[in-house]
Amino acid sequence: MAELHHLSLAELARGLAGGDFSSVELTRACLQRIEAHDRKLNSFITVTAEQALKQAAEADARRRGGDAAPLTGVPYAHKDIFCTRGVRTTCGSRMLENFISPYDATVSERFNAAGLVMLGKTNMDEFAMGSSNETSYFGPVRNPWNTDCVPGGSSGGTAAAVAARLAPFGTGTDTGGSIRQPAALCGITGIKPTYGCVSRWGMIAFASSLDQGGPMTRTVEDAALVLNVICGFDPRDSTSLERPPEDYARDLNASLKGLRIGLPKEYFGAGLDPAVADAVHAAMREFEKLGAVVREISLPNGHLSIPAYYVVAPAECSSNLSRFDGVRYGHRCDKPKDLMDLYCRSRGEGFGPEVQRRILIGTYALSAGYYDAYYLKAQKIRRLIRDDFARAFKEVDLIAGPTSPTTAFKIGEKTSDPVTMYLSDIYTIAVNLAGLPGMSIPAGFVNDLPVGLHIIGNYFGEARMLNAAHQYQQATDWHERRPAAFA
Ligand code: GLN
Repeated sequence: MAELHHLSLAELARGLAGGDFSSVELTRACLQRIEAHDRKLNSFITVTAEQALKQAAEADARRRGGDAAPLTGVPYAHKDIFCTRGVRTTCGSRMLENFISPYDATVSERFNAAGLVMLGKTNMDEFAMGSSNETSYFGPVRNPWNTDCVPGGSSGGTAAAVAARLAPFGTGTDTGGSIRQPAALCGITGIKPTYGCVSRWGMIAFASSLDQGGPMTRTVEDAALVLNVICGFDPRDSTSLERPPEDYARDLNASLKGLRIGLPKEYFGAGLDPAVADAVHAAMREFEKLGAVVREISLPNGHLSIPAYYVVAPAECSSNLSRFDGVRYGHRCDKPKDLMDLYCRSRGEGFGPEVQRRILIGTYALSAGYYDAYYLKAQKIRRLIRDDFARAFKEVDLIAGPTSPTTAFKIGEKTSDPVTMYLSDIYTIAVNLAGLPGMSIPAGFVNDLPVGLHIIGNYFGEARMLNAAHQYQQATDWHERRPAAFA
């Protein structure tokens, strides 16, 4: 049998069920890999070795007792934005450097109930604001394919940990692309579900109308297995959708014959690396071989998504982050002179420059004289973007394109120019504004760096998206490539 860290979740689940190895053995193997390799990556903020081994022993006992769930005993890396009871939850910020959460997020609870084993909390851009993991208070994460490059962000820690085989899978959150873009840049699979499928309760809020949690895995099948654990109605999240439970692995093997895939012509304009475009076109030929019909479509308002997002997301974050005031939560400055000094210095010291920039933009956009000109206007554009997709989905079943305009860029390359950085998410952001599901899967390499293929589904079209992506992975081996330095 292959070494444990090379096995997919589906293989690990079979191995655990068949008694080939125990969860304690598997967990130990992961912890050893983290110990040996994470110095080069900085993908974890906190490693919870002791708790993990305890959870693993419990999972083994549960298996012996015959009441295991499919993924009982499987270890995972948890983005440090999900609250975890008794474990530090930093959100990548000095503001929460010493915050020990008194409760579990719903997603964490669901993993616990299913008997999964948390290895630790992964590095991320501060409060999930960023596309390169460079805004983290805990330092940048390195891309396992080339450690001079960024892993993408904001879920860069999870992406690097999964790509380097330090953890079989991990969690991410996606407000404008933070699951899909790092998945693309690290050569793994990542899915942002339809807004409302995964509870946001206990997931530290960035922009509440856009945030959605989801799995980051090596294969599509694995992503389906994780969605089966984390999706579901939660009365504690008022935007959670009450729908009958779904088996996301159910249609993975359906034929793609006649599947209609739309390729938006606007995605292939200026800014896209031609080599990335070539990889996407090659992937489309593969889909055609599998029986799909690929045609050009148009999403005419797509170019408005970045400007609209950079009003809506900062507006919501300025409100969400007002709770971090040095009194109720988070960092408090030393010896404040008075209340105003307490607020100003606590927030000034606790938040990094990108977070401060967003709070300023958001507060400005929501202020009385500017609300109509910015926030209201952005909401109207949001509607136009949604309507574009609704029109497209009358003609096609799925939409495909590049996940990000380039492969991973060098650490430091874009930090001095926020707008260039924002353009990393030019293809992913519209999906959040519309609330649709989207995913990224590996689809080639340019100069030894992975390229991601973006697939967008209609509302609740996860199963169909996963089916198409799984069939593609059956026909190709991009997802099986691994970074040589972390073999
Ligand atoms: N890169 C985008 C931003 O900085 C998206 C981040 C995210 O999805 N959390 O806002």
